[in-house]
Formats: sequence, structure tokens, C-alpha cells
Amino acid sequence: MSSRQDVVVIGAGLAGLSAAVALAGDGAKVTLLDRRPEIGGRAYSYLHPALQETVDSQHVVLGCCTNLLDLCGLAGSAGLVRWYDELVFLEPNGARSWMKPGVLPAPSHQTLSFLRAPMLSLRDKAGIATGLMEFLRGYPADDSESFRTWLKRTGQTERAILHFWEPVVVGALNDGFDNCSTKYAGKVFHETFLRSPEGGRLGIPAAPLTEFFTPVAELAMRLGVQLELKSGADAIEPLPGGGWAVRSGERVIETRNLVLATAFREAGRLMAGLPGAAAEAESPFVAAPITTVHLWYDREVTELDHAVLLDTRIQWMFAKSRIRRWEASRGSYLELVISASWPELKLGREEILASALREAEIFFPRMRQAKLVKSSVLKEARATFSVTPGLDRFRPAQATAYPGLFLAGDWTATEWPSTMEGAVRSGRLAAGAVRGDTTRFLAPELPATGLMRWLSTRRLPLSKG
Ligand SMILES: Cc1cc2nc3c(=O)[nH]c(=O)nc-3n(C[C@H](O)[C@H](O)[C@H](O)COP(=O)(O)OP(=O)(O)OC[C@H]3O[C@@H](n4cnc5c(N)ncnc54)[C@H](O)[C@@H]3O)c2cc1C
Repeated sequence: MSSRQDVVVIGAGLAGLSAAVALAGDGAKVTLLDRRPEIGGRAYSYLHPALQETVDSQHVVLGCCTNLLDLCGLAGSAGLVRWYDELVFLEPNGARSWMKPGVLPAPSHQTLSFLRAPMLSLRDKAGIATGLMEFLRGYPADDSESFRTWLKRTGQTERAILHFWEPVVVGALNDGFDNCSTKYAGKVFHETFLRSPEGGRLGIPAAPLTEFFTPVAELAMRLGVQLELKSGADAIEPLPGGGWAVRSGERVIETRNLVLATAFREAGRLMAGLPGAAAEAESPFVAAPITTVHLWYDREVTELDHAVLLDTRIQWMFAKSRIRRWEASRGSYLELVISASWPELKLGREEILASALREAEIFFPRMRQAKLVKSSVLKEARATFSVTPGLDRFRPAQATAYPGLFLAGDWTATEWPSTMEGAVRSGRLAAGAVRGDTTRFLAPELPATGLMRWLSTRRLPLSKG
């Protein structure tokens, strides 16, 4: 039996890492366990044995992700984020629509580029502008309405849905309109399109994810965290005199406080045997998949670093070789992202690859002349959870009814969808709960700018329409 810890954190994903960093930085003696051989949880990369390439599913960050960026800043890895102010939407006919901040103050900073965008007609734009007005002051505090109901209620045109609402909502929330509440869709539009130009900036890690997050684990260890990989927690139980015992293989670790920072299924399993635990009910959480297609060519096939693709199964193209500033002699590396990829889960990899190539070549004709050197398809069946209407009431607070037991993870109550920012917030909220002051470790929000300094209040009653 090891010596008694102040805190054991189970799970070295971003939630667990951020909880461990906050608590160790506050003087606690912390042990951080993960059953896998690497840190980062779902935000990880690995050396693909057959391809001899390090692969990951591209993660992006937004300017409004203040806790994630603060953590990267503390760890010294914030400089590895490549920032973009512009977003380009490509149509199969070759038309390009740019969304970028102009001279007008928030909330009108994107207006000029929006008015020029050929992907939408004037009627589509008028409907979108009216719709966005609903999120001008904030987003609903209540999460009961589905975004599909909202689209109907605000009379959005089919083209506005296909060329604006869908790419943004499915890209950010990883599910269809029925499985996304207006609250979280509204949050995306309020934070990224309206509140400030800084909040909507797109950041892309320019290194594979494990490399990108390793400085966070190193920071944790410098602060004294004992990081133990390949150390799964098999069971937890309360100790008679207070505190917790964690069984990991042959070992039992005793601790005053325990933070479960795993995904929702595993947290449910570990808590199922606790005294007074509710009988296992069907989980209200829906896990949503993401499929990514990785292509290595002998030459450059696009001059864009990234793009949103319209009217296809593929939502995003990331030219990772450009983002990572590869030498031209290395050829190029593209990743195509298919969000909410339930249909692809049932398809074979060859089929997914063939269809993705067919579609992508329409947008990037230079792919046809280039030699495809190697390729890979990654399916992440449980990439995120869906912010289904009404889910908020099932997202638990970080403090539990059990003294000394805390929860972290993107799925806990954070007011954020399933994201790295949500995970880091949850870890910091859990650390705050351990210390009896929930918000103590949270980074400040980005300030609203322009007219939004007076307009933005963030959480609103749901409009009845
Ligand atoms: C393909 C894909 C694309 C994504 N794209 C984005 C994006 O662009 N932007 C964004 O913000 N987010 C994105 N996400 C979501 C983001 O990765 C997650 O929201 C975030 O990483 C969740 O972190 P977490 O710490 O809450 O959970 P996890 O990352 O799931 O961490 C939980 C950890 O607990 C460990 N664990 C579980 N059980 C045990 C046990 N019994 N004992 C010990 N350890 C255990 C696991 O090994 C894991 O390391 C994406 C996710 C995927 C998969």
C-alpha cells in the first residue's frame, strides 16, 4: 500500500491533467493514474505502425477557449497553436466564400465578408441575420429546445441551413439538428460570430496532439504530480474513517480526495458499486463518432491550410503539412474530417477512402495529378457526447454526494459542449470543489468588444418564438 495521498485523479485526459495541475500548483500531493500508455485521453496521437507516421484526429480550438489556452500558456505550449482569422467555405462548383473580421465593431465584424459570400443568396442572408439576432445578447439558459425546432421557428431557408447553420453546428457539436439543443448551438454562434473577433479566431495545434499536450504533463510533474501510466483503476471504495481506496491491479492507494476524470461510461462503472448508488439506468449520454481520412501525397495539392467543404459528407479539410510548415520536398499531408459519422461506422475503410477521394478531388483537382503515397482512415466511435435537448439536467456537478469524491470530464456540468475547453474547465471546477471554492481555478472569460460590451449578457430565457 502506498502512502496516503491528498488527491488521486483517475484519468490523464485534459480533465484529469488540468485538475492535477491546479491542485498540485495549490500545494496538494497528487497522484494521476491512467490505464493507457499515453496522456491526453481522446486528444492524443500515436505512431501508426504500418504507415510509420504519427497520426491524430485534428482538434481545433477557438479564441474563446480561455481555460485550455491558459493551461497551454502555463505549460509553455501555447506558441504551438497556429491562429487563423479567416474561414473559407468551398462549394463543389469552385466558388469560395470567406468569413473574416472587417473594420466594423462586434457584433458586425463579419458582416462585410458575410454580405459578399456567394454561397448564400440575399434571402438566405436576411434569414440568417434575423436568426443571429436571437443570439445577440446571449444564448438560452434552458436547453430543452432542439436546434431543428429553432431553424423551423425562425424560418431558415434550405440553402441557409445547408451552407451556414449545418456546417457550423455539425462541425462544432458533432451531431445533427435533432440531437443538438438551441442552447449550445446558440452558444457557438454567440461566442464565435458575435461577441468579439478574438473569440471566434480558429486555432490549430501545429504538432501531433500527444506532442502538443506533453508539456502539460511535464508541468504537472514539475509541480510534484506522480503520473502513473498503464495504471488503470479497477475499483474505488470509501474508507471507514473518511477518504477513499483506489484498487489498481495488485495495489491499493489511499487518498483523502478522489477525482474521477474518465469518460461518462467508466465513471458510471466505477461508481456503480458505491453504497447508496442508484440502480444502473440507461445512460442519457449519446456518444457521437468522427471519422478522419488521412492522405499523403508526393506534392502540394492545395494552397489552403484548411477549408469547410459544402454539399459533401466531408466537413473540413486540414492541410496538415501546411499547418505544420513541412518542407515542400516532403510532399503533403491532408486530413479530411467527417463529423457525426454514423453511416461511416458501418462502412469498410476502403469504401470510406474511395468516397472521400471522389468528393475531395472535386474541391482540390490537383489531387488527381498527384501521387497518393499512403492513406489511412481513423474511426473514433465515441469521439464526443451529443448535447441533446434536455441533457443539462443529467450532467452532474463536480462535487458529488459522497464526501471527498469529485467528478471531472467534458460530460460533467460545465456549460460547454464536448470539447477540450469543456474538459479543462471540468478539471479546474473539480479542483476548485476539492478546495471548497468551485470557480477558484477558472481563467477569466474573453471580454466582449465593440457594441457587445453593452449587449452581451450570455445566458437568456428561452425565447418562445
Ligand atoms: C476525433 C475527435 C475529434 C475531436 N475534435 C475536437 C476539436 O476539434 N475540438 C475540441 O475542443 N474537442 C474535440 N474533441 C473532443 C475532445 O477530445 C474531448 O472533449 C476531450 O479530450 C475530453 O477530455 P476528457 O479528459 O474529459 O476525457 P478523455 O479524453 O476521454 O479522458 C479520460 C481518460 O480517462 C482514462 N481512463 C478511463 N478509465 C480509466 C480507469 N479505469 N483507470 C484509469 N484511467 C482511466 C482514459 O484512458 C482517458 O485517458 C474531439 C474528439 C475526438 C475523439
